[in-house]
Amino acid sequence: MIPPAYGPEVASGLWVYLEQEAGRLEGVALELLGRGRELAAQKGTALTGLLPGHQVQDAARVAIAHGADHVLVADHPLLAAYSTEAWTEIAARLILERKPETLLLGATPNGRDLAGRLAVRLRTGLTADCTGLAWEEGTGLLLGEVTGFGGGVMASIKCAHHRPQMATVRPGIFPLPPPDPRRAGTIEEVSVALSPEALKAEVLRRVRQEGVDITRARVIVAGGRGVKGDFTPLTELARLLGGEVGASRVACDLGWIGRDRQIGQTGFVTRPWLALVCGISGATQFTVGIKDAEQIVAINSDPDAPIFEDADLCVMDDLFPVLEALIAELQRGTP
Ligand SMILES: Cc1cc2nc3c(=O)[nH]c(=O)nc-3n(C[C@H](O)[C@H](O)[C@H](O)COP(=O)(O)OP(=O)(O)OC[C@H]3O[C@@H](n4cnc5c(N)ncnc54)[C@H](O)[C@@H]3O)c2cc1C
Repeated sequence: MIPPAYGPEVASGLWVYLEQEAGRLEGVALELLGRGRELAAQKGTALTGLLPGHQVQDAARVAIAHGADHVLVADHPLLAAYSTEAWTEIAARLILERKPETLLLGATPNGRDLAGRLAVRLRTGLTADCTGLAWEEGTGLLLGEVTGFGGGVMASIKCAHHRPQMATVRPGIFPLPPPDPRRAGTIEEVSVALSPEALKAEVLRRVRQEGVDITRARVIVAGGRGVKGDFTPLTELARLLGGEVGASRVACDLGWIGRDRQIGQTGFVTRPWLALVCGISGATQFTVGIKDAEQIVAINSDPDAPIFEDADLCVMDDLFPVLEALIAELQRGTP
């Protein structure tokens, strides 16, 4: 066994990595603070936010309002934009100094990048893409729930000897906690020793891809192979309902719609008030992305489609006339 950088006997506290973009916390960081608050309360431990960046003091206050007891701010002009080296350097140094028991990160592109690098640097384990987090009864170890083998297996993974126990969680898995601006917490500025020469990579330009965020949609009209490439009625229905169009992986793979709308294990996890699922069979890899919808309405021509097992309302029919009728009804009701 590779010797741990530090072990359970000296570790304490729950940390959440506070990912931010231009001083604004990512939604998943807030979601992790919400779940982290519950986990910290169960353990009777403090919840600490780790916040590298530049001019991020407002974000530290937002983190406290969302559940952090303590925020470690590492502020430096060289931290204005994410870079693997700088973030790893700062996070690893603070972790080795203060020895948290657990570290949670969002499974965003940057969060995944940082988590993998940190796990190697700290010689510890990382449970990636968790769909649930809990403490194991008796041992108090972190259990990261993950889907494996193409969605056929739900596994609980723990890290018994090495610290910190690390896990990444995809956006949308946990609900956004309501902020409490009166919550008290402490903000600690930590020293940052970084020089441009020490960083091998330089960010020359950042291009932000325009796309939708289906994880926050209240209504989703999702289509799969059954729409046969025609998303027009789904788009119109989503517009009338004030929602967004989503899709199965097959529909994205076939190039019928953008990848930013893919729901599921390798897409986005959503929790809308209403998910209208059209021409999607209901493989677990898809349903994991809508299981927390308040209501699922499924339209499918196959009476044996697995999606009917997850749906609150099942419409066994050809999706096109059903959507046409729904659109006509909503248009009649629109002044
Ligand atoms: C590691 C891994 C990760 C994956 N990740 C994802 C993921 O994130 N998201 C995801 O979606 N999939 C994912 N998949 C793929 C997943 O297993 C399924 O293959 C996929 O979800 C099927 O897409 P579908 O339901 O659109 O197509 P199909 O399974 O082909 O189903 C099409 C459905 O449309 C119905 N239909 C056809 N015509 C009509 C009509 N006119 N009216 C009504 N119904 C009609 C059919 O009865 C059928 O049920 C993953 C697979 C693997 C192995």
